[in-house]
Amino acid sequence: MSWDAEIRIARETAAFACRLAVRVRAALMPSDRADKSDRSPVTVADFGVQALISLDLASAFPNDPIMAEEDAAGLEGGGQAAGLRSRVVESVQWLRPDLGENRIVQAIGRCGATAGLKGRCWCLDPIDGTKGFIRGGQYALALSLLVDGRPVIGVMACPNLPAGDPGQTGRIYTAVLNRGARVGPLDGRPDTPIKARASDHPAGVLFCESVESEHVSHKRMDRVRQAFGASQPPLRMDSQCKYGLVADGRAGVYLRVPLETGHREKPWDHAAGALIVQEAGGRVTDLHGRPLDFSTGQNLTRNFGIIAAAASIHDRVLQAFRQTL
Ligand code: AMP
Ligand code: MG
Repeated sequence: MSWDAEIRIARETAAFACRLAVRVRAALMPSDRADKSDRSPVTVADFGVQALISLDLASAFPNDPIMAEEDAAGLEGGGQAAGLRSRVVESVQWLRPDLGENRIVQAIGRCGATAGLKGRCWCLDPIDGTKGFIRGGQYALALSLLVDGRPVIGVMACPNLPAGDPGQTGRIYTAVLNRGARVGPLDGRPDTPIKARASDHPAGVLFCESVESEHVSHKRMDRVRQAFGASQPPLRMDSQCKYGLVADGRAGVYLRVPLETGHREKPWDHAAGALIVQEAGGRVTDLHGRPLDFSTGQNLTRNFGIIAAAASIHDRVLQAFRQTL
């Protein structure tokens, strides 16, 4: 399979939907956010991006199911939900004036699929790193296609990520299974192949990790870095953008040691990023050294934590983690 149509459409829809995210962020109001039942935040941009991408995928691939982070329940009813709903509709109509409220809400609501061992399923995090988005930090629009439980394409649009050239911001990473990974600007100018790489000297290896002390154990990751022999402080960054930094060689490792031992990762937080790192020549496993298993539905039940690293140092990071047990 070449996946030419899939990668082209996924890249286009993610770059297009970025415009909504950037516009909402630039004028973010307190009423543009709400708290979900798990107390995590959601914004007008999470819903708006999910609507745009869901509609584009439905018109290009009408038979494909979508598994995405948001559901439409938070937009139903009156009060705060009604206010949020009208802001979502307004933000989507800025780019798609042809769409009415019903189609927009339906598009958000049709993304409750569960990927399994068989068939195709799109996997979407419309705004990964919502906390970072709200703070003005990093966030990513992450889209992948799972086929028989394996990512075959991955797209990650990172509007706030600096480029190599000073003053330039906004990157879009793409990967196709067995065809490598690329990065380029968000405005459609040409992209280039990328390669994961790291210093041979542990002291010079840059680790990146989550900002959120409610998500990960920074203390535990300090000990892993020490055991590895890294001398630089970690780079703390929100969202899946961390996979991008490993894939393009700006960091050597993305380490994720969840705070709670029972925590299960979500497929939409990892499928796109992990494929991008693997196709850039890096290696991605959990903290036990197991490959990520995306065939288990809406939670990665067979994995715990993440080590994404340049291939030359992945084993040494795994060993360093084991030394801290
Ligand atoms: P990061 O910015 O690297 O922490 O990644 C953001 C992702 O962390 C979100 O998309 C959530 O799915 C995930 N997350 C939310 N709560 C937790 C938690 N308690 N432990 C670990 N990860 C979490
Ligand atoms: Mg997420």
